[in-house]
Amino acid sequence: MSDQLRWKRVLLKLSGEALMGEQQFGIDPAVVERVAREIAEAVALGAQFGIVVGGGNIFRGVSLAAKGGNRVTGDHMGMLATVMNSLTLADALNSLGVQARVLSAVPVPSICETFTQRGAERYMEDGDVILFAGGTGNPFFSTDSGAALRAAEMQCNAFLKGTQVDGVYDCDPKFNPDAMRYDTLTPGEVLEKNLKVMDATAIALARDNAIPVVVFSIHTSGALVNVLRGQGLFTVVS
Ligand code: UDP
Repeated sequence: MSDQLRWKRVLLKLSGEALMGEQQFGIDPAVVERVAREIAEAVALGAQFGIVVGGGNIFRGVSLAAKGGNRVTGDHMGMLATVMNSLTLADALNSLGVQARVLSAVPVPSICETFTQRGAERYMEDGDVILFAGGTGNPFFSTDSGAALRAAEMQCNAFLKGTQVDGVYDCDPKFNPDAMRYDTLTPGEVLEKNLKVMDATAIALARDNAIPVVVFSIHTSGALVNVLRGQGLFTVVS
């Protein structure tokens, strides 16, 4: 079945806000379950998944720094937030019968395994879904950069960025009905036009490792499977 897939081994990046639903903060278990079902459906088709979930629904380091707090401490807290999000998504996947493991760049050994590339490779070969928690393990980075790093380390065929909308637009489609969606973009165009795909470090890492970034809507039912087959609406940055 996996030969029907345009991209077989993928890194799926979800922002923490993707797990928030209508709430202003935190995790909505119903949304987590819905996202897990989409992933489980794709796993059943033979896709291999590494997943990075951000932490913005719980904590971002810059918000602490903006209020006069210590940025490094704030980033440590943000990285721990990604561990929480990864744990909840792993539980939801496991309860659907998908073997999912949390590997964290920040060691929290009583809660989950610590990331090593070799360990992750073995699990992925076994067909397990890996949740890469803890970002890069370093402050001053984003989970988009962490995800691009893991995509390169795991030799993923594509970096799938699940967002609130079905691709990259020339302006915000929520506020402008005439907004135009791009089918394809180059990393250079994303940087030049300052399009809000992800930060420059993440874009450069994906570009330098020849990994296409595929932006699609994680909230559209069936979109993940469609994208893996190269169908439906999305923007490819490559
Ligand atoms: N973070 C970090 N280093 C990393 C990745 C994340 O310090 O390598 C911290 C940072 O404070 C960030 C927070 O974790 O704001 C949550 O990640 P991010 O903002 O990327 O989450 P998202 O916007 O995707 O929900």
